[in-house]
Amino acid sequence: MSDQHPATVAVIGAGVTGLTLAHLLDRQGIPVRVYEAQSRPGGAMHTSREQGFLVEHGPNSAQETTPLLRQLFVGLGIDDQFEYASPASKNRYVVRGGKLHAVPLGPPALLGTRLFSGAAKLRLLAEPFVRRSDPDQDEDLAHFVTRRLGREFLDYAIDPFVSGVFAGLPEKLSVRSAFPRLWELEQEYGSLIKGAVLGARARRKRQEQSKQSAQSFSFKEGLQTLIDALARSLGDKVQTGVPLRAVRKTAAGYTLELANRAEAVPAASVALTMPAHGYEQLELGFECDAARQALAKIYYPPVAVVFCGYRRNPLDHALEGFGFLVPRRENRQILGSLWNSSLFSGRAPEGGLALTVFVGGSRQPENALWPEDKLMDTVAAELKELLGLQPRPDHQVVFRWPRAIPQYQVGHRQLMAAVEACEARHPGLYLGGNFRGGISVADCVKSAHALADKVAGDLRGRGALAG
Ligand SMILES: Cc1cc2nc3c(=O)[nH]c(=O)nc-3n(C[C@H](O)[C@H](O)[C@H](O)COP(=O)(O)OP(=O)(O)OC[C@H]3O[C@@H](n4cnc5c(N)ncnc54)[C@H](O)[C@@H]3O)c2cc1C
Repeated sequence: MSDQHPATVAVIGAGVTGLTLAHLLDRQGIPVRVYEAQSRPGGAMHTSREQGFLVEHGPNSAQETTPLLRQLFVGLGIDDQFEYASPASKNRYVVRGGKLHAVPLGPPALLGTRLFSGAAKLRLLAEPFVRRSDPDQDEDLAHFVTRRLGREFLDYAIDPFVSGVFAGLPEKLSVRSAFPRLWELEQEYGSLIKGAVLGARARRKRQEQSKQSAQSFSFKEGLQTLIDALARSLGDKVQTGVPLRAVRKTAAGYTLELANRAEAVPAASVALTMPAHGYEQLELGFECDAARQALAKIYYPPVAVVFCGYRRNPLDHALEGFGFLVPRRENRQILGSLWNSSLFSGRAPEGGLALTVFVGGSRQPENALWPEDKLMDTVAAELKELLGLQPRPDHQVVFRWPRAIPQYQVGHRQLMAAVEACEARHPGLYLGGNFRGGISVADCVKSAHALADKVAGDLRGRGALAG
């Protein structure tokens, strides 16, 4: 296929969003090209095999919240590589008083847990009677949770959870933008507890899973399997090492100026799926200033991912669970740890142990930037205190994400309104990626589906495609 086809859709960024979008358009016979700045596709998703360990540099697992995921995997022929996390992954831990406490999985466990005080448990009984908030107010998550569930649930459930998902802070994140389902539960049912019960019925009808009940999954050789399969399906339609420098408008659509390419590339539509900070260096040859200013306000805190691999498990027991999260009130230097070899097969040599520790985020951004020695020493000290893990790992490696995950802060909806206005003004231009529609891998795939429908529909509407 030539770059010159009049209906070509140019997708910028070969992360999971851009690749899924391009794959879906390609499958409909729409001419598509993907341009990626880095030398490899994948963006945040990157797996390597090192010394017998399977190491995830970014996301470690995804959640099966939508049937679209399995449809995609079946279509790509990678369904046989798919692996659900082990049943033990249901066990999740939160640190309190320097000890790991199992997160209660149901009402009886909630009554018995020492993670929350008796007063905090009693406070839950009041939740159905708390008034719903003004729907026009953009409330932060900390206020929302304190108002509905009480302060202790904020400190020992939501705060660690938010650092596990967003590497974020509850008082900064907008409940409506970052956790839209929570906000909707309150608005629809007037109570999270009532909504959890009644909402589950509605979801079953739509064949969707809530993020709480959806199963975690990966592939035998890690999440990179998805990236590789998407890139394979697109073949030479994906070009790497070609950062987009400028987009200009023409009578027929757009032209792209790419680094390392002498000639400008024409395209009928342009779907940008790079991070919000990718716009800092991008020249737009048309008016889109409000959207650019909006995107510049999205904060991406730094995160350091520290992989620790042991050829032999040094503990006298297996680590059975998903991992643990650390509430801010515990004053520790790490955000939490995932127990990879408990979750999926083949993450460590037989009898070994693999775990990943996350450091930094919005809570302690400076920690993510520590020199490697200090990071490794800190992680070792924390794992010794919390898990009794004594010797240093046989294989330890640090990956740094200087701008890791977009924070959907209070005011995010206004920022997205500016993005929508830019799209409305420039037909055929789309601004996607994980700053919009959710940050999880599953949300990125869902957003890519919605975007593919929109791009294809618009092309047809403009008469650029037959049918
Ligand atoms: C450390 C970490 C851990 C995570 N853990 C999980 C997890 O366990 N589960 C989960 O569901 N999610 C997790 N996430 C979130 C999830 O991985 C991401 O939200 C998702 O992968 C983002 O995909 P994307 O395609 O939208 O963006 P990216 O993956 O960021 O891809 C965007 C691409 O655009 C390219 N680009 C940028 N500028 C240009 C340009 N000018 N020209 C061309 N290309 C450009 C970039 O190089 C990049 O490849 C994690 C993220 C991080 C960073």
